[in-house]
Amino acid sequence: MKYYILFGPPGAGKGTQAKFIAEKYNLLHISTGDLLRKEMAAGTPLGLQAKKLIEGGNLVPDEVVVGMIRNTFSSNKDVNGFLLDGFPRTIAQAEKLDQMLAEGGEKVDKVLSLTIKDETIFERIAKRAQIEGRKDDADPATIQNRIDTYHAKTEPLIDYYKNEGNYCEIPGEQTIEEVFDCICKVI
Ligand code: AMP
Repeated sequence: MKYYILFGPPGAGKGTQAKFIAEKYNLLHISTGDLLRKEMAAGTPLGLQAKKLIEGGNLVPDEVVVGMIRNTFSSNKDVNGFLLDGFPRTIAQAEKLDQMLAEGGEKVDKVLSLTIKDETIFERIAKRAQIEGRKDDADPATIQNRIDTYHAKTEPLIDYYKNEGNYCEIPGEQTIEEVFDCICKVI
């Protein structure tokens, strides 16, 4: 089983690229953000708990997303591998993922990291707000909090994966096709 992580700040293009990568390499795309939005739309207790955090631009607790990932891995055994989008987002999540994979003698194959400037994040998210109507894309204070949260809690994962030797950076401010091309070369 292959395990790829699509890494980067909000608005880096992870979701867009994930669809192309998953199709080309026959991987199951797991977006923890999408899974949480489904829970919110269905009004489940988990969705209700997550809603406030997501709409404020904060992370949901590690155990919640780790549980989602664990369930998805164990209920999908017939795929070539998994493409994780928006997970892990904290060192604790990355450590749990490594533990989970090590239990089955597996590991993260590559971390595909899309890099973009903070100014570009704002432009991209403003555009997406008009298309997708996500509440957490609509408010500048929420966007800023998501960027700050990324720098404080998620960016430290870059050194974590550099130490593991599987970290690859891809400039995210090229066209969608150019970014995809770079990703394919890495894979
Ligand atoms: P995304 O669609 O990846 O931008 O995620 C939307 C929101 O869902 C994030 O701002 C967080 O509130 C929450 N979320 C998604 N993935 C995670 C994660 N791995 N850890 C914690 N919160 C997450």
